[in-house]
Amino acid sequence: MIDAFSYSLNTAIHFGFGKLRELPALLDGCGVRCAVLVCDRFFAAMGETLKESTPQIAAVFSDVEPNPQLSGVKEVVRLVRETGADSVIALGGGSSIDTAKFAAACACSDKTPDAHFDGAPFTGAEKIIAVPTTAGTGSEVTAVSVVSRGEEKKTVHNPAFQPTACIVDPALTMSVPPRTTLITGLDAFTHAIEAFWSVRHSALTDALAVEAMRVILANLEASYEKGTEEARTAMAYGSLLAGLAFSNAKTAACHACSYPLSMYHHLPHGEACAFTLDSLIRLNADDRLQNLAKTLGFSGCDALADEIYRLKVKGGLRVRFADCEGDVDLDRLAKESAEHMLMQNNPVKLDEAALKAMFKKLM
Ligand code: NAD
Repeated sequence: MIDAFSYSLNTAIHFGFGKLRELPALLDGCGVRCAVLVCDRFFAAMGETLKESTPQIAAVFSDVEPNPQLSGVKEVVRLVRETGADSVIALGGGSSIDTAKFAAACACSDKTPDAHFDGAPFTGAEKIIAVPTTAGTGSEVTAVSVVSRGEEKKTVHNPAFQPTACIVDPALTMSVPPRTTLITGLDAFTHAIEAFWSVRHSALTDALAVEAMRVILANLEASYEKGTEEARTAMAYGSLLAGLAFSNAKTAACHACSYPLSMYHHLPHGEACAFTLDSLIRLNADDRLQNLAKTLGFSGCDALADEIYRLKVKGGLRVRFADCEGDVDLDRLAKESAEHMLMQNNPVKLDEAALKAMFKKLM
């Protein structure tokens, strides 16, 4: 019996190896007249080349940092106003896409980016065109933006951030270094499994999540070890499916724990999610998750958790606090994880004591 559900998405998706070649026509199709392109330094030269070949691009901002800062958002807002742009194009990983989203919404507001960071609501946004270059965040199909002001990192959910369109071109991911490929791939897998076990899941998000997990598990190792077109294309597809799943089902305990882990131990987002992923698969192992593990070809949740641990160790990711920077404060980690709003989506209720016990096993 399939329970009732609602699912919304307002993003046109254009997927294909080499798809970026169609950028000017795709922008016309979205009604983009004048755009600012946002990227980080790695894509600065490509951004300038695209500006030359794409009449709609009026300016390029190429200074996005990992854990993107509000200062970058302010620069993009300034460029949008200076050029009279009606759109912001993001070319990059989650950091560039999230900068573009926040800026596109701030550019439509008479309040400052600081005021919005402090909670002022958004009323709309310029068009957002997301072109992901990592296979991981799914930000190209979510209404979420993660930005920081100094050390303060905020995840803001707002319908204004929903991209108008995304161009998922796996060719852009061919240059991602192996370690980042593994970290972003595990981020995508975490989105999928968390969408599956979230209390807000539905039949439709389950279908997206299960297919995402199947595709990612079959291609993650090849994508970071060999980086073939086939594996990269599959990972871009798996990450997109995972994004479509969690855009509506939301994420849960892994993501709740990832924020203090990133803040105090400086783990990149995907590595922070992966840090507790195998522990949480074991803690969330109810009948439904056991069946999922079997569907994915494992004997059960323990075997699936073992496989995640194996991938992390093989790829040199951090698996215990002794490998990480920063002093470990188990009480603070447990308290901040337990209080995070995403923890409410977890299928098993995990209080501070349960989370502290989990973190303690990772010492
Ligand atoms: P990123 O955008 O921070 O990029 C990481 C590094 O990879 C950078 O040095 C970048 O230059 C490099 N890189 C990116 N693409 C490359 C390519 N094709 N070739 C070579 N190098 C490349 O990484 P990310 O993991 O994509 O994004 C992480 C950010 O996204 C975090 O801030 C996280 O909180 C956020 N996030 C957002 C959502 C959402 O729904 N909005 C979801 C998950 C994560």
